[in-house]
Amino acid sequence: MNERGASPGAGLDQLASFTIPGCHARGRVVRLGPVLDRILAAHDYPAPIQQLLAEALVLAALMGGLLKREGSQLTLQAQTSGGVVELLVCDYRDGELRGYVQHDPVRLAELGDEPSLSELFGDGHLAITFDLPATSQRYQGVVPLEGNSLSAAVEVYFAQSEQVPTLIRTATDAGARPNIAGGLLVQHLADGEEGRERLHVRADHPEWEHVAVLAHSIRPDELADASLPLEGIVWRLFHEEPEVRVQASVPLSRGCRCSTVHFEEVLARFPKKDRRDMRDENGIILVDCAFCSREFAIQD
Ligand SMILES: [Zn+2]
Repeated sequence: MNERGASPGAGLDQLASFTIPGCHARGRVVRLGPVLDRILAAHDYPAPIQQLLAEALVLAALMGGLLKREGSQLTLQAQTSGGVVELLVCDYRDGELRGYVQHDPVRLAELGDEPSLSELFGDGHLAITFDLPATSQRYQGVVPLEGNSLSAAVEVYFAQSEQVPTLIRTATDAGARPNIAGGLLVQHLADGEEGRERLHVRADHPEWEHVAVLAHSIRPDELADASLPLEGIVWRLFHEEPEVRVQASVPLSRGCRCSTVHFEEVLARFPKKDRRDMRDENGIILVDCAFCSREFAIQD
């Protein structure tokens, strides 16, 4: 628990992990700043969509931060047919975040400044995918996009798909420069559980209730306060516990895998006939990276 009182911005674009061994609980805290700005700068989104993407990126970092093995990826995809937001995609791999949103700007404008989740997505669903290449495993859970926020839907995912009691809070400060978004995830693990094995839920778990009550007291302004180090948040919530282990923060960055070479490899997997249909009179195939809003001209 060091770094308390560090300078403003010390906790930006960082992900911290902690465990509370006495309560069989673990947690992640994240705060995004310039990385969020860089991701948003690739697009020209209105405020409600920026807000939505900021929350999704925080969630991707919180969940991605649960992955231990290098090369593992967390993908969050919110989707609906006929909703104002048709698609939202975010992913996290080795500290790198990226994301984009497809929406209907005309219908969005009709919803006002603070549209609800159901106004944005209608009858949508959220797919959460953990890819673990080291063991060639892939877990996917899909939950309905219900409740007030994406965070609430992710809590439902952990409760239903993984049977892991989980509390998630997120907050954004869109007025700040850079934009700031923060989040806290705390979850209960079975006795001695490590990693992602399934939890055998007991009928009651007072130790979890205790942790949840403490975590519940986090305020949005604390999550989005650039001058409050992430360790400071853990300290404020859990300083009365006999033991809290906080690991060194991981720096987060904006990252995308798009490149000419990448798209050449992707296109090479298409049959020749399909590629012929895609290319223009000069033999060029134009490919978009939706994450970066960049177009690549690939010579076929
Ligand atoms: Zn890209």
